Amino acid sequence: LQYYFKQIETHQHLNAFNEVFFYSAAERARLVQEKIDKGSAGRLAGMVIGIKDNICYKDHEVTASSRMLEGFVSPYSATVVERLLNEDAVIIGRLNCDEFAMGGSNETSFYGAVKNAANPEKVAGGSSGGSAVAVQADMCLSALGTDTGGSVRQPAAFCGCIGLKPTYGRISRYGVIAYASSFDQVGTITSSVGDAALLLEVLAGADDHDSTVSREAVPAYTAGLSAGSKKKIAVLKETLESEALDKDIKAAILEAIEVFKAQGHSIEYVSFDLLDYLVPAYYVLTTAEASSNLSRYDGVHYGHRNLEATNLNELYKKSRAEGFGDEVKKRILLGTFVLSAGYYDAYYQKAQQVRRLIREKMESMLMDFDVIITPVTPTPAFKIGENIDDPLVMYMADIFTVLASLTGIPAIAVPLGNNSDGLPLSIQLMAKHFHEKELLSLSNEFL
Ligand code: GLN
Repeated sequence: LQYYFKQIETHQHLNAFNEVFFYSAAERARLVQEKIDKGSAGRLAGMVIGIKDNICYKDHEVTASSRMLEGFVSPYSATVVERLLNEDAVIIGRLNCDEFAMGGSNETSFYGAVKNAANPEKVAGGSSGGSAVAVQADMCLSALGTDTGGSVRQPAAFCGCIGLKPTYGRISRYGVIAYASSFDQVGTITSSVGDAALLLEVLAGADDHDSTVSREAVPAYTAGLSAGSKKKIAVLKETLESEALDKDIKAAILEAIEVFKAQGHSIEYVSFDLLDYLVPAYYVLTTAEASSNLSRYDGVHYGHRNLEATNLNELYKKSRAEGFGDEVKKRILLGTFVLSAGYYDAYYQKAQQVRRLIREKMESMLMDFDVIITPVTPTPAFKIGENIDDPLVMYMADIFTVLASLTGIPAIAVPLGNNSDGLPLSIQLMAKHFHEKELLSLSNEFL
């Protein structure tokens, strides 16, 4: 713990932590050490872990990197936090992220951008940018993030880490600040596949507090990690042919494909003709859900309250106007629009139909294949400030990650080394619902 505290101090300029839990982490480390001495410590004893600042930890502040929740102290812990603590992990702090997890560069945070440790002029990725940089710069051993449309996988890719988004419903969302509830999933950012497997083993499984969590048995993800079977792998052809794809990423993926072949896995290039519909469907549906989820921040129940308002409507308006940042406001407006009478059928309902089509297409492809390969991102980490004023460029950059989110399938970002500027490159593997084990064993064999 002392080592990580030092690392955090040395890397303060990266802005990865919204708060370091100096006191409570030290207190827990002492308790865990006692248990270790007695031989009664849990499976995560000694694991120092950071949590994204949208995951509740009892008696600790949680803000979703928004002014709206500044100073809000959580009265209870998320199920994922309970499970970490039950296995004697030490939670070292809460990590910076895009405001309410809305963003792909960690530039929408009320606390400012997180900087990539590979090059501090570049973005960390988002929305779990603090989680990725904290692991990248060794400020904690592993981190929890959340992934609605790529927020674990994309920053992991930009920072050279392993980012796992499990199947929707594999891990409880209880105590996780909601963005788009039918997409949100807790995921892990680690520097080894073994840590990802261990964390998933601890975090996954039924929870009475979240009815969307599956009762499907939790396999021993850590067992037999290196004894995977030969896989049938599909490469989504159009994703590699895309004009927008960076040539170093493409070359690294083609090289990785050769490695998979040499390891005895079969590779087939398969066409996927719904690529153009992914980003539009994702943004219609997630903004709709977000506009509903964020209605609870009214200046009365939670968070920021304007004190000058003289009536209730004014209180709502002023508190929300002051509490939310621009990106969040934009999404509330967009979401409210697509849900409004007269537009609901044309946008929201249509997007739901498109989501079903995408899901059916992916499920039928996954009847024939074990694993599907695409890039994680079209480019390596870009410059801070470069894209933030162009929402279309920002949103289009999510094209490869939202596929698994719309479908609910598990996906993992696996590092492929760096380009000549020292920026990390990455590949994405996806599998059938609840087949995380195949992703983990294939990644482990590859690395
Ligand atoms: N970049 C995507 C968005 O802005 C994904 C965010 C996320 O997964 N939380 O919605």
